[in-house]
Amino acid sequence: MANIILLGAPGSGKGSQAAAIIKEFRIPQISTGDMLREARKMGTEMGMLAAHYMDSGELVPDEVVIGIVKERLAMDDCKNGFILDGFPRTIPQAQTLDGVLRELGIELNHVIEIDVPDELIIPRITGRRSCPSCKRPYHVAFLKPRSENVCDDCSETLVQRSDDTEEAVNVRLEAYKMKTAPLAEYYKKSGKLRVVDGVGDMKEISARIFAILA
Ligand code: AMP
Repeated sequence: MANIILLGAPGSGKGSQAAAIIKEFRIPQISTGDMLREARKMGTEMGMLAAHYMDSGELVPDEVVIGIVKERLAMDDCKNGFILDGFPRTIPQAQTLDGVLRELGIELNHVIEIDVPDELIIPRITGRRSCPSCKRPYHVAFLKPRSENVCDDCSETLVQRSDDTEEAVNVRLEAYKMKTAPLAEYYKKSGKLRVVDGVGDMKEISARIFAILA
């Protein structure tokens, strides 16, 4: 069974690696960031509440994210496994998750932390762009489109996430260090934590992760 948590700083590649894992293992990716962005797009009350935290790079209050994850984990498609990407991000979230999994009779199998040095994070994030239509990811230096700022597939003008600015990234990194990094210790105690070197080619990093999941 593959019940997985992916940990790592913003820009460590959690989203890209989660995409590779769901393809291989055919399990759903539960990304709280994606769910919150979707809620904002739909204009729900929760989305509106989350918006100002997200844009400034702060964490959304625990009770908001915990609520959405609880509902999502209870869905049928999580019965054969899931990958949590961007959750938990605080110790209270991790403790609540333990309780939710116990209630649902689900055992956590792997906690994988993707480790990337700080100095690589800011250029990785601030250069990120994506196609608003097909969501294809790009980077201004590392993954350029054929013509500048235009999607190779749909010719749409690329966009930048509102929290991928240098100012918001600094706040996100601080939140990560203060609130999320202590989770490594939390999961080390349960013997589930594995740390993967997140520097290198995306496929190489996937191979490191698959070796753990195999
Ligand atoms: P991400 O896409 O994972 O980088 O998340 C983008 C933003 O959504 C974060 O900077 C937070 O504002 C919010 N967010 C996502 N997941 C969580 C979480 N587990 N706890 C609190 N805030 C979150």
